[in-house]
Amino acid sequence: MNPNIKFGLSCECGNVVWVSRTEAGSQTKCTACSTTILVPPLSKLLKAPSVDTSPLGIVLDKIRNADPPFDGICQICTSARFEIVLPARLDFVSRDQMVSPESVAEIQSCILPCYLCYGCDKILARSMRIGFAKQVVDTLLHSFWLVIVFILAVIVAAIMPLVGISFVGAVLWGLYQQLTRKTANPGLLKHLDRVCGLGAIVREAYYYKLTKLKRVRTKV
Ligand SMILES: [Zn+2]
Ligand SMILES: [Zn+2]
Repeated sequence: MNPNIKFGLSCECGNVVWVSRTEAGSQTKCTACSTTILVPPLSKLLKAPSVDTSPLGIVLDKIRNADPPFDGICQICTSARFEIVLPARLDFVSRDQMVSPESVAEIQSCILPCYLCYGCDKILARSMRIGFAKQVVDTLLHSFWLVIVFILAVIVAAIMPLVGISFVGAVLWGLYQQLTRKTANPGLLKHLDRVCGLGAIVREAYYYKLTKLKRVRTKV
């Protein structure tokens, strides 16, 4: 149940009023002419035209309609036509879906295209190389921290009679870190955040993974 899905009801004046599922069976006012509109019961409301108003829904709509910044103009300099498409795959689990841990399996995927001219592709590639280096450092620091925790747990277990607790705790903590891993190249994430507000989308995600796909060059 995505609470961001809104259903369109048309008013006599021609205006479309967007209501959510929870408003079924109630009354609302037209935003244009203030006429009272009866919201139909849920079974009927679900058949009305709908739109996803979540940050990701808005972006996917832009991609579908080839609206800016997905209209084929370079997303960095915004003056040249694109010469390279760098599709980025986003796998994620939104918080709304997090009813039980099993729902982690319900990973959604979408492709976010980066449209770039040759010059700007180099700029993004450089920023992504720096981003990759940051990821490596982060992973090393994270692993180092896990090892320290593990060693501490073993020392505590050796000198304290309550052996198991800290040991199991360290392992669970490590597992939790693995389960809630959020991965993305910071350079690519920064670009897509500027282009389509990806930051807002992934902030809402319980889990996400942004994968850079193969660059596609257009023939000149
Ligand atoms: Zn109206
Ligand atoms: Zn450019």
